[in-house]
Amino acid sequence: MKNAVVIHYGEIGLKGKNRILFEKTLAKNIELALKDLINEKPIIKHGRLVLFISEKSDQIKDRLRCIPGIKYFAFSIVVPSDIEAIKEVALKLAENKKGCFKVETYRSNKNFPLTSVDVNNIVGEYIAKHTKKKVNLGKPDFIVFIEICKNEAYIYSEKIRGVGGLPVFPNEKIISLLSGGIDSAVSSFLMMKRGCKIVFVHFFNYTRQSQNVELKIKNLVGILSRYQIDSKLYMVPFREIQMEIIKNIPSKLRMLVYRRFMMRIASKIANLENAKAFVTGDSISQVASQTLDNLNVIYSAADKPVFTPLSGMDKEEIIDIAKRMGTYEVSILPYEDCCSFMVAKHPETRCDLKKIENAEKNLDIQGLVENAISKMKEISIEAKW
Ligand code: ATP
Ligand code: MG
Repeated sequence: MKNAVVIHYGEIGLKGKNRILFEKTLAKNIELALKDLINEKPIIKHGRLVLFISEKSDQIKDRLRCIPGIKYFAFSIVVPSDIEAIKEVALKLAENKKGCFKVETYRSNKNFPLTSVDVNNIVGEYIAKHTKKKVNLGKPDFIVFIEICKNEAYIYSEKIRGVGGLPVFPNEKIISLLSGGIDSAVSSFLMMKRGCKIVFVHFFNYTRQSQNVELKIKNLVGILSRYQIDSKLYMVPFREIQMEIIKNIPSKLRMLVYRRFMMRIASKIANLENAKAFVTGDSISQVASQTLDNLNVIYSAADKPVFTPLSGMDKEEIIDIAKRMGTYEVSILPYEDCCSFMVAKHPETRCDLKKIENAEKNLDIQGLVENAISKMKEISIEAKW
């Protein structure tokens, strides 16, 4: 008898010809995420992955819960696909549980001599007879799950939910503009769930606080890396650009000019990284810079598509995801938001591109961008548990 984790994917199962590519990517991501905890690689088996392990572990559980592409997984006991062996292990499992039960069988080996319903009945009766526990199909206290494959069957009683979505593809890169607030961490997570590898960029203003800011951003990226194993973070100094903007741009427009510079610098980083798009934490009209007019002005400084997965969400919904995903507590720690530096109390809410381009005429845009790029710092960050 061996122990294995049976890993099921949701959406990958719907893929046609590309399915094997998704399965292999998921298997590779699991192998990397668990590399210090396992001795064997996950195996692709009839629409699921099977990972043999020496024993059940909370560390394996915590990490698998974070890997995009996994719908659910279960710590299971592996037996030969033979009804007598299945009965014995199912009984052992039921003996350690309380209350009434049912048996649920999935049979991907259609050559197995019994149907799923037969197996449910045979194993259910066997457990009831030996434990005196009652079968309750409507509201069982626990379920004995049996998955029958070609040579082996997997038996377990607890399905653990994963994050769902699709596995992260290392080359499907997106640049995330990560502020340190709640929103951009959530938007990064949502893009990882769609299979994108996120490269993080943070703009900071040198002050006495900048050590703390860096620590906070590294912590956030450490938590976000649970979902994509490891990450690259670019810390870009923004003070010189801000000083120039303050000198040359009326306060009502400064926020927009700041954010247009961020998009320009992010565009350069995207080229360095071979990234194909950007993601921001913008949510329509949440703050003054996020009116449709202003977002148009900001995003037109980017040379690739900008995704905003939070555009249609309320703050409450966003906070909910941040809490479940694990970044909320770090995001709400106080820090110096570089964008609030010398901006108007009532900024422009309906800017158009002509107006902003006119205002930017006095700035040496290319020189400022290149200077920031030459001074930025690149940091590698592993998942933080
Ligand atoms: P967040 O919670 O992500 O900070 P927010 O609702 O506070 O968002 P803003 O502060 O206006 O809104 O920022 C909007 C978006 O601009 C952020 O979600 C982020 O993508 C980007 N952004 C803002 N400041 C920075 C920064 N210092 N570095 C990188 N990106 C930033
Ligand atoms: Mg913010």
